[in-house]
Amino acid sequence: MTELHDQDEGPAAWREPRHIAVLGATGSIGTSTLDLVRRHPEAFRVESLTAGQNVDELAALAREFQVRYAAVADAGQYAALRDALAGTGIAVGAGEDALVEAAEQPADWVMAAIVGAAGLAPALAAIRRGVTVALANKETLVCAGELVMAEVARHGATLLPVDSEHNAIFQVLDGERRADVSRLILTASGGPFRHTAREVLDRVTPEQAVAHPNWSMGAKISVDSATMMNKGLELIEAHHLFQMPETRIDVLVHPQSIIHSMVAYRDGSTLAQLGLPDMRTPIAHTLAWPGRMTGPVAHADLASIGELTFEAPDTERFPALDVAREALRRGGSAPTVLNAANEVAVQAFLDGEIGFPGVPASVKTVLDRHDIGPITSLADVAAADDDARAHARSLARRARASA
Ligand code: NAD
Ligand code: MG
Repeated sequence: MTELHDQDEGPAAWREPRHIAVLGATGSIGTSTLDLVRRHPEAFRVESLTAGQNVDELAALAREFQVRYAAVADAGQYAALRDALAGTGIAVGAGEDALVEAAEQPADWVMAAIVGAAGLAPALAAIRRGVTVALANKETLVCAGELVMAEVARHGATLLPVDSEHNAIFQVLDGERRADVSRLILTASGGPFRHTAREVLDRVTPEQAVAHPNWSMGAKISVDSATMMNKGLELIEAHHLFQMPETRIDVLVHPQSIIHSMVAYRDGSTLAQLGLPDMRTPIAHTLAWPGRMTGPVAHADLASIGELTFEAPDTERFPALDVAREALRRGGSAPTVLNAANEVAVQAFLDGEIGFPGVPASVKTVLDRHDIGPITSLADVAAADDDARAHARSLARRARASA
């Protein structure tokens, strides 16, 4: 790995391929990652892949990239995956332990792109190997931020943010002294309901919520973007990644999604990273880091885009941001609870059990009633997570019964 890192020209100049693992390979981020890998076959060797349930797609990818190990999260799919890869020599596994095993394959770059708290254990397994972890799975930092960052330091791992805002900040902070940073400014598109009246939000459908104006993403993060809980999760993510207090992280609505985030320095300078809204740019940044690689995304043509606009977030229609800020301020198990309650509420909305405003309302109710305790171990995370999920599920059941 050091040899690769000594090169600063990116994949074309590497003497040896970078060995990688892609956790969540069948998802939106996983697919974009493998799209980049396909364009540079000589630069990457894929060691392992994981998926949640989709055995056919996982098996096809495992064959294409001739991986060493493929794992499916759904334990009931073991036989299906084994049969699909029979005769290939590819080792297979199923269930939560198999995801961890996939993260433990000898790869020096691991993409953590499983959605939700389910990605925590595999991401930690990669971190504990002291390798480079490209982190898309923001829920990992929301539900266990202090523990994860402590493990990163303890094992000398390198954490590269994939989330476009955090990737932008990471790029803009490069070579700067932390003491010179005044504020971080996370940009937000405002989502599909930026102009939707409050009364109308009661009736919006899952289909409308997942139709994001700028980004094409998995269902969960699309709903999070619509409620703006995504920006709340990102606020907590930024706090951990950049060791920045909540009071010095701003959110700015920027509907064109060209400026991916900014850093304000104490001399009055504000630095930004710009690009078209395509996750292959931040993913390529992490794949080639500390070099750069040629990517498929065109530069933002600012003359044809014409206008970049900005506005303050509307926390009346989108209360999730304030709920997340409060969870971060309260600390301990509060962000764990926020994340777990949100995962359940988003699924309940997608399943038609609760309405759109019910998502942040349910998260707030669960958070308000939760006795916050310290998080000092993964067992603490699991206990707070279980407790919040059970409460959020009971709220969804009650809402469905009374509908
Ligand atoms: P997705 O739903 O498209 O894909 C998720 C992947 O995880 C799939 O491979 C799926 O099979 C797998 N998976 C689902 N549930 C699982 C479980 N319980 N156990 C193991 N694997 C499971 O999601 P996505 O949009 O690719 O997002 C992945 C992560 O990246 C999320 O944490 C999201 O917040 C973050 N992220 C995504 C984007 C984006 O543009 N899509 C941008 C920034 C951050
Ligand atoms: Mg983001």
